[in-house]
Amino acid sequence: MIEQKGFTLWFTGLSGAGKTTVAKALENELRARGVKVERLDGDTVRESLTRDLGFSKEDRDKNIERVTFVAKLLSRNGVGVLASFISPYRETRAMVAGETTNFIEVFVHAPLEVCAERDVKGMYAKAFAGEIDNFTGVSDPYEEPLSPDIQLNTHEETVEQSVAKVLAYLEEHTYIPVFEGQQA
Ligand code: ADP
Repeated sequence: MIEQKGFTLWFTGLSGAGKTTVAKALENELRARGVKVERLDGDTVRESLTRDLGFSKEDRDKNIERVTFVAKLLSRNGVGVLASFISPYRETRAMVAGETTNFIEVFVHAPLEVCAERDVKGMYAKAFAGEIDNFTGVSDPYEEPLSPDIQLNTHEETVEQSVAKVLAYLEEHTYIPVFEGQQA
């Protein structure tokens, strides 16, 4: 048995850019290939581990700090971590990179207009109406990654294409074995 390498795929991008959608599809594919993975998602983590936190810069940083601690433990023990968090600040993402094993920054990109048009959770309408403070991309900053390891342009590619890009990266960097069978 070859020991599995841990890694931390860090999906960052605006709300509605496609972080969760791609991470879920990727999770299914990796599990089907027998890779040990754990998915950490902003929306679910905020209902448990960090339910006491809001969206000020200080609380956002605390949210990421706690999640980073979990990602650190998992990734150093051979688990592939799929983390989807808006994580708007470059400095915070650099901190995550320093703490976790085999950190891979995935910029999930779609123009703000596209994310607002999708409005998956109805949040953009509220943000544009001024009903939500600190909404990333509208009333709060999003610092785009300057040199992400992978960039997904979800307004131009299908979910399958985005997933294939990440899988190719993982295979190229020998984080997962090259898959010879049928794509699930
Ligand atoms: P986030 O997790 O970044 O807030 P979600 O994954 O919740 O975003 O929502 C993204 C939305 O965009 C979903 O409704 C998804 O079906 C749609 N979408 C369209 N094309 C893509 C793509 N190529 N990758 C990911 N999502 C896409």
